[in-house]
Amino acid sequence: MTTQQLIPPIHSTLKFMPELVYFEPDALNYPKGQHIHQWALEQGLEIHMTTSHNQIRDLPGESELEKYRIAKRTLVVGIRKTLKFDSSKPSAEYAIPIATGCMGHCHYCYLQTTLGAKPYIRIYVNIDDILGASKQYIDDRAPEITRFEAACTSDPVGLEHISGSLKQLIEFMAEQPLGRLRFVTKYHHVDSLLDAKHNKHTRFRFSVNADYVIKNFEPGTSKFAERIEAASKVAGSGYPLGFIIAPIIWHDGWEDGYEELLEKLKGSLPPEATKDLTFELIQHRYTKTAKNIIHTRYPKTKLEMDEEKRKYKWGRYGRGKYVYPDDQANALRTFITEQIFDKFPAAKIEYFT
Ligand code: SF4
Repeated sequence: MTTQQLIPPIHSTLKFMPELVYFEPDALNYPKGQHIHQWALEQGLEIHMTTSHNQIRDLPGESELEKYRIAKRTLVVGIRKTLKFDSSKPSAEYAIPIATGCMGHCHYCYLQTTLGAKPYIRIYVNIDDILGASKQYIDDRAPEITRFEAACTSDPVGLEHISGSLKQLIEFMAEQPLGRLRFVTKYHHVDSLLDAKHNKHTRFRFSVNADYVIKNFEPGTSKFAERIEAASKVAGSGYPLGFIIAPIIWHDGWEDGYEELLEKLKGSLPPEATKDLTFELIQHRYTKTAKNIIHTRYPKTKLEMDEEKRKYKWGRYGRGKYVYPDDQANALRTFITEQIFDKFPAAKIEYFT
């Protein structure tokens, strides 16, 4: 046995592999639907047909929790019928819908509530319709630039090996003088995107956080080191790079945690990666509905959601959220901002919310 064989391989986060795949009938009329069908056959996955994703009521599982876990490993391939895009402030003008749902198990994820009882993953195969709609939005706003966020309802990088949609979006936006794309990911499977013709019209962002947050609240996602290695690769391919620090969580030792995060980023990124670098900062927030769902799905979570310790921030349609009180929010913003400018003087902080 050689020395190499004695060293265990470094465990790398695997690409998502669903257990169940459902196809809506029309999906097979599109090249992407046929391609995914072929892929699912080759992988030996259990394939079902369904008239509509709404009909998938009887996912296996004894308890609600088990059904939820199975839903997170279920892929539904269908058509995006609504081509009216939601707004996506503050990061972009519009959310561009290429997928919904995510295989990750981040306790705090906003999809817990937005997808509610339908946490399975959906990939939309009518990509030409979606691109056509985005072109219309771009034309309507000309001569202003229009930015599209592709990660509002999913983590599209984590699905790219199945859908290939992100590459199509990147190359489409590269040809649009007034169109820009952005997305964020917690996955490191970026290799298929490195040779995409992006024309610097896509900002590739990675979600990063203090060690405490990644370890306790982000199961099922790529490790920090994997994300940073991927960030260096995409910067090496000339993409404008960004980091989203979210959710920023107040915890014992948070100053050390966030300082260490920025030090590690500085230490691992090649200088060319930091030439056009942005940061977005989002403090942790939750609604009462989210809190109930999170406690059901992750009963042992350490995520602090105590209304007594929070400030209520009113939102649209009277639906507010619990954020940190002003003194804590200001302390987080000031400290992390200083750390960013200390380590990356040329970076731009787009917002803190
Ligand atoms: Fe949600 Fe993003 Fe985590 Fe997926 S990776 S569960 S979209 S926070």
